[in-house]
Amino acid sequence: MRYYGTRDKSAAVSFARAALEGLAPDGGLYVPETIPRYSSAVRNSLSTMSIPEIALETIRPFVAGEIPTAVLEELIEEAFNFPAPLVAVGDRRVMELFHGPTAAFKDFGARFMARAFSYLRRNESKSLRILVATSGDTGGAVADGFYNVPGIDVTVLYPKGRVSPLQERQIAGLGGNVSACAVEGSFDDCQAMVKAVFSKPEVRSRHLLSSANSINIARLIPQAVYYAVAAGRAWAGKTDPEGPATARLRAGQSGDGKTAGRVLICVPSGNFGNLTAGLYARKMGAPIAQFIAATNINKTVPDYLISGDYKARDSQASISNAMDVGAPSNFERMQSLYSHARMAALIRGVWVDDKDTRETIERVAETHGYLLDPHTAVGWRGMDMLEAESGPLGDASVLISTAHPSKFAEVVEPICGEIPLAPALRQAMDRKVESVSLPPKADALIDYLDNISL
Ligand SMILES: *Cc1c(COP(=O)(O)O)cnc(C)c1O
Repeated sequence: MRYYGTRDKSAAVSFARAALEGLAPDGGLYVPETIPRYSSAVRNSLSTMSIPEIALETIRPFVAGEIPTAVLEELIEEAFNFPAPLVAVGDRRVMELFHGPTAAFKDFGARFMARAFSYLRRNESKSLRILVATSGDTGGAVADGFYNVPGIDVTVLYPKGRVSPLQERQIAGLGGNVSACAVEGSFDDCQAMVKAVFSKPEVRSRHLLSSANSINIARLIPQAVYYAVAAGRAWAGKTDPEGPATARLRAGQSGDGKTAGRVLICVPSGNFGNLTAGLYARKMGAPIAQFIAATNINKTVPDYLISGDYKARDSQASISNAMDVGAPSNFERMQSLYSHARMAALIRGVWVDDKDTRETIERVAETHGYLLDPHTAVGWRGMDMLEAESGPLGDASVLISTAHPSKFAEVVEPICGEIPLAPALRQAMDRKVESVSLPPKADALIDYLDNISL
């Protein structure tokens, strides 16, 4: 498979190059030249295949010729090593993507990307250093994804005293190949330091540096996997564990290409990587009819879907803060797939404010005894809004749950009372923080890098 930048389709590169480079030279994002299709045998078996089996069928064509199948199987086994149950909540299905080491869906992308990088660099003698600036969350998922992965070191910069105790342990508690710098400044300072270092050729000649931000194509592709899993299971009326789903599967009614494509999937969205991966899964042949893109007040994309006019703006703070994105990077990828009219037919945009998000967390806890984190609650509310307009969505509607509620305890606990920490997060809380304090200066980061690689 070849990849090209969203802004200049002339220069195609390999998967390895697209992944290790991150951003395309045209300043755009790498996209695959074509979206492969599942065979009809795979399409018909999505409801019964295991997650690693679906992962293999999904990812293989994107890395064909570069990662052999046997190796890919191993990478998948290590990356997809936690469950993603589809549970019934009322008459909806919720795909819980928060059972990984950092209790949010970004574990899927980060874990696969880390192992893919390691394999693609297997013949290099010098190890690669991933530099990440984080305001709290992304750094933890990236650090954890690369932890103990051979041939790769990670340095995470975070604003000192401005991340939660849990986030700090996720970033600075791993040790080993992950080092952490507590910057005496803001997240913007951290980002500026990383940018400055990347722009200095003399530093880059001493250190092999790379980034691992959310626009990396190697993070996006593995996320298509759980859409195929969710749609296949939901369409067949299956939930895990054996739930009260009504059986929708009648002889000859699914997967024959005529009636496939019936599942509605709601995606809480910020930078729109998650939703873009869903679009890929649908193009591959997962039985998805439509998407709901649910945002908080950062409603750039819902506004675009209505008006056809794309207006990026500054981010506004909300309680679903991992979705506070006013200029979503992955919009360029969505636009490379669909015209406004097609996109608006395929994706329904809705947006939800903090008051309604809190009200939804409370109501769903009372009605169903099910706890939503603030991001997933935005999605639940989005589905309510569509239901109010056009009637019940039915049991073939799936909400993508992006994080465990305990990860956002500061929002959820004042509404629902004390909740137990997710097991993975409880383990992280036992770690000891080890970080180096740095003044908010690029030179300080350069000295630090020179010192640790001595
Ligand atoms: C990153 C994140 C999102 C947004 O995902 P995008 O791919 O940026 O749209 C939603 N919820 C949580 C918990 C996240 O961490």
